[in-house]
Amino acid sequence: MTDLSGRVALVTGGTRGIGLATVRALVDAGATVVLTGRDEARAKEAASAAGAAAGLALDVTDAKAVSSLVRGVAKEHGRLDIVVANAGIMEDALLGMIREELVDTTLSTNVAGTLHTVQAAARAMMRKKTGSIVVLASIVGEYGSAGQTVYAASKAAVANIARSAAKELGRSGIRVNAVAPGVIETDLTAGLSEDAKAENAGKTPLGRLGRAEDVANAIRFLVSDEASFITGQVLGVDGGLVL
Ligand code: NAD
Repeated sequence: MTDLSGRVALVTGGTRGIGLATVRALVDAGATVVLTGRDEARAKEAASAAGAAAGLALDVTDAKAVSSLVRGVAKEHGRLDIVVANAGIMEDALLGMIREELVDTTLSTNVAGTLHTVQAAARAMMRKKTGSIVVLASIVGEYGSAGQTVYAASKAAVANIARSAAKELGRSGIRVNAVAPGVIETDLTAGLSEDAKAENAGKTPLGRLGRAEDVANAIRFLVSDEASFITGQVLGVDGGLVL
C-alpha cells in the first residue's frame, strides 16, 4: 500500500467526483489533505466526510486567491508536497453553437485555473526542492471529440502545461504529470444518455466506463515515491478506449 504519511496535499475541486475520490485515496494513504470547492459550506462538509484536514472555498479562475490559498496551506502545515489541479468544467457545443462566454469560462477554468494552481504549487514547493503535481487532462484532449471542441482544446492545453512545467521544474525536484481519464461516471458525465454510456462502454476494451476511484488510484501512484522517476507524462486512465 502506498505510504503518504507525513505528506501534505491539496486537491482543487475536491467536493465530488474524481476530486473527492482522490481526497479519499490520499487520506487512506496517510496524507494530510486540504480540499477546495467553489462553495465553502460544501467544501467543509466534504472535508469532514472524507477525513480531510480542511475544506476551503476557492475559485481557481482567481489567480490571486489561488496564490494566497496555496501559500496559506503551506504555511499552516509547514510544507506542501502534493497538489492535484482537478477543478474543471465541461460543456458541449457544436462548432456553430459555440458562444464566446463558453470559450471564456472553459479556458479560464480549465486552462488558466490549472496554470494558476501549478504556478502557486511550484512556488510553495520550490523552498524544499521537492513535490509532485498532477493535473487533469482528458482522453478528448488527445483525440478530439465532436461537439467538444472547446473542452478538448482546453484539455490539450492542460496536458501541455504538465509537459512544459515538468521540464522547468525537474531540476528543482518537482515532478509534474497529467492523468487523461476516459469516460468516468461522475456528475460531469451524468448528462450522457444511457445509449451513449453503453456505446462508450462497448468501445472500451475493458468493457465498462471508468469510476472516480480508477482515476484516484492513478493519481495516488503518480504523487507517491513509487513514481519518483516519472515526470512530464500524460497517463491515460481509460480502459483502453480510443476515440
Ligand atoms: P465534477 O463536475 O464532478 O467535479 C468538478 C469539480 O471541479 C467540482 O468540485 C467543481 O465544483 C470544481 N470546479 C469547477 N469549476 C471550478 C472553479 N472555477 N473553481 C474551483 N473549483 C471548480 O467532474 P469530475 O468528473 O470529477 O472531473 C474532475 C476533473 O476531471 C475535471 O477537470 C474534468 O475535466 C476531468 N475529467 C473528467 C472526466 C470524466 O469523464 N468525468 C474525463 C476526463 C477528464
